[in-house]
Order: sequence, then C-alpha cells, then structure tokens
Amino acid sequence: MSNIAFIGLGNMGGPMALNLVKAGHALTVFDLSAAALKTLGDAGASVAPSARAAVEGADTVISMLPASRHVEQLYLGRDGVIGALRPGALIIDCSTIAAQSAIAVAEAAQVSGMEMLDAPVSGGTGGAQAGTLTFMVGGPADVLEKARGVLLAMGRNIFHAGAHGAGQSAKVCNNMLLGILMAGTAEALALGMANGLDPRVLSDIMVKSSGRNWVLELYNPVPGVMDNVPASRGYSGGFGVDLMLKDLGLAAEAAMNAKSPVPLGELARNLYALHSTRGAGALDFSSILDLLKKA
Ligand code: NAD
Repeated sequence: MSNIAFIGLGNMGGPMALNLVKAGHALTVFDLSAAALKTLGDAGASVAPSARAAVEGADTVISMLPASRHVEQLYLGRDGVIGALRPGALIIDCSTIAAQSAIAVAEAAQVSGMEMLDAPVSGGTGGAQAGTLTFMVGGPADVLEKARGVLLAMGRNIFHAGAHGAGQSAKVCNNMLLGILMAGTAEALALGMANGLDPRVLSDIMVKSSGRNWVLELYNPVPGVMDNVPASRGYSGGFGVDLMLKDLGLAAEAAMNAKSPVPLGELARNLYALHSTRGAGALDFSSILDLLKKA
C-alpha cells in the first residue's frame, strides 16, 4: 500500500480520496476548505496544515485542482512541493489543465529525480464516487505501470494516451465533445418542451433513437427527469459551468496551436461564457438548458 498525499478535495478529489482510504492506502490530505478536510479526516485520512506538510514522506502525490495556474502554483510556485518531495516520488496530476503546464511540471519533476504523469479523468462526480473513472494518462509507459494499482482504486478504465501532456490533449478533445453534446441535447429538449412535449417522454424516445448520447443516458439536464443528477438538485454538486468554460478555452488554445478548426467547440464556448456572465458560473454545466429554454 502506498503512502499518498492528496491535494484538492472538491467535487471530484473528495470522493477519489475516499476511495483510496477505503482501498487501504495511508492518505495525508490538504485542501483550502476546512469542510472538505473534515470529511476526509472523519474517514481516516491524516489532515495536513499545508500542501508542503502533506507531501513530506509521501511516495505518491495526487492533485485534483481546478486549473493550470493552481497546479503550476502547487508544484512550481515559490513554495512548490517538488522541493519538499523525496527523489523517486511519483506525482500524478488528475486535474484538467493545459498540456503545456503538465509538460512543465513533468520536466521540473524529472530535474529533481521524480516521475510525473498527467492523468485527467472522465466520468463525473458519479464516477468519482463509484470508483469507475476513466483515466487518460500521459507519460512513460513504465511509470504508468507503477501508478496502475493506485489508479485502479479510483477508476476502471486506464488509457495510455502517449508522452507527457498527451493525457491532457485527449481530455480536452473529450470535454469539447461533451460541451457540444450537452448544449445540443439541452437545445433539443428545450425545443421539444416548447412544442408541448413531456421531457421525460422525449428523453425516452431520443435515448432509444439516433440522438442517443452520454448526456441522455446519464446526465439529463431537465430537472426531475433523472434521479441523482445535478439537474434534480438545483444544478449543484457536479461539473461547474466555469470549469467547462475553462476546458473549452483549453480546446480553443489547442486548436490554435495546431491550426485545427473547431467551429462547434467555439460556439459551445461562447454559449457557456454567456451563461457564466449571467451568473451561472458555479452551477453544474447542464444548467445551460436555462439559457436555451423558452421563459
Ligand atoms: P472543485 O472546484 O469542486 O474542487 C477543487 C478543489 O480544489 C476545492 O476543494 C478547492 O478548495 C481546492 N483548491 C483550490 N486551490 C487549492 C490549493 N491551492 N491548495 C489546495 N486545494 C485547493 O473542482 P472539481 O469539480 O473537483 O474539479 C477538479 C478538476 O477535475 C478540474 O480540473 C476539473 O476540470 C476536473 N474534472 C471535473 C469533473 C466534474 O465532473 N466535476 C469531471 C472530470 C474532471
């Protein structure tokens, strides 16, 4: 069993860390939220007063933070934890960040004699709770083999996408598609409701027809159609609009770097940006329905 430091205990990191405790790993955790720390402390993890304190003595560090700047600050900042880790330690960053940021952390880790993997996830908070996440891993294949046991305590599918940064590149493609699918599905459901259809009936029809997709199967945006999804609890506790907006920004950046056209990704990014400026940034991204449905 590994001695793991876990930094970032939000909607995703919290349940992922709980699954590591359940699997018998010794966990030391840090987050800025006292409530998040209490939940993990109550479950048997050691609570540290800072990220640096959390990583002391760890053989593996896992981070699950909002965006590139948080990850860069954690590892490369003035008090960066790379300086507090022992050589030979393994860093696994599961946040969704720019591929370039992941590569910068991996390079700094290597200089200090450590290995680093970018290992962003898919599967939502439901997947994080159930331990069924999909990991998209960037980094050397032999390092992934060292990490496999720890990843399997949190997820079910582990893909080796390629070299450092490749996990993030794969994640950005997936999330651009998810943003488009959510906006498109919400638009179709809004159109049906505006024409007098019951969204439950329309969802049942489309999930068995050619419009079928992950959103209709697992994450319906209309309140009350599906139990245990953010739409049925006031769009709370899922994947925030501002996080989706960040991912669509990463997709736009990746597209610009590669000169690859992403017209639908750009349209989706603008829709979530508009939704965010109207005050919905902290709501789950399925609330994009509110922007599209008739008042
Ligand atoms: P969240 O906002 O719920 O959690 C982020 C956590 O990081 C918070 O608890 C916050 O207090 C903590 N944090 C921020 N700065 C910190 C610091 N300097 N030190 C310690 N803790 C700090 O976000 P989330 O939904 O858990 O998402 C985390 C990452 O996973 C993001 O990159 C997101 O894009 C990605 N992701 C989210 C989902 C989802 O469905 N929510 C799915 C897949 C991937």
